[in-house]
Amino acid sequence: MLIGAHVSPAGGPAKAIARGIERGANAIQIFNQNPRAWKPRDYSDEEVAQFRDAMAGSPVDALLIHAVYLLNCATDDPEMRANTLRSLTASLQAGAALGAHAVVLHPGSAKTGDVGAAIARAGEVIREALAQSDGCPLHLENTAGSGGTLGRSFGELAAVIDAAGGDTRLGVCLDSCHLLASGQEIRTADALAAVLDDCVAQVGLERLGSLHLNDSQTPLGSNVDRHANVGEGELGQDGCAVFLSEPRFEGLPLVLETPGVNHSGPTAEEILWARTLRERGLTARRG
Ligand SMILES: [Zn+2]
Ligand SMILES: [Zn+2]
Repeated sequence: MLIGAHVSPAGGPAKAIARGIERGANAIQIFNQNPRAWKPRDYSDEEVAQFRDAMAGSPVDALLIHAVYLLNCATDDPEMRANTLRSLTASLQAGAALGAHAVVLHPGSAKTGDVGAAIARAGEVIREALAQSDGCPLHLENTAGSGGTLGRSFGELAAVIDAAGGDTRLGVCLDSCHLLASGQEIRTADALAAVLDDCVAQVGLERLGSLHLNDSQTPLGSNVDRHANVGEGELGQDGCAVFLSEPRFEGLPLVLETPGVNHSGPTAEEILWARTLRERGLTARRG
């Protein structure tokens, strides 16, 4: 398991590798553009070369690119659709240039409309973005299930993948906070195993591609997405240890997207804490 954190790419993507190294991360996740503005960011050849150099000599072995939250692949508004498609395509192209493990995407929101129609629209946008890019996988993230967000269940994730054409570049990113908030009990090894059996049955083990470890400020089934620091929320230390030691997660990149002690994101101490909890979980499983 490649444990790491979401970090800022301010100053260029190579700087994100430096921030990963400072934190003792084996995986990092970045936004590839300003999360609050429709302004796709293309990396220059020099930035790409600097990034690849920095990563090659570092303990960071996986890069995830998180598509920004402005996107809504399920929108029925033509302007929003065009912006979303352009931005998602740019993220996938950036991912290919930087050699990313995957782009991670929240599948979209039906708002108050029909979910089936929203899934069909989201699938179409994703299909077009994949067609306009090369190589980089796209992982659909499970969501906490607030409002009309798609991806609250494995069935919905599977339906979006289907609607997008079932390309082999499509996978899923599982977020521990979102799983709990969407009503999935994952705090014991047996409970998590049962949830993953369902995931594997609906989307396939081969599509299980990346992980977010966040504790949850809100309880099981709350449908509210509020991240807590590792071990300090409803998952707790034991729940986090279970997630970190799940056998089917071996080898996958896992990044923290926690508020951090100073609300400036995950720290080196928190990543070290996650490693400690993983060891604790592995020991308990050998029990
Ligand atoms: Zn997440
Ligand atoms: Zn979240």
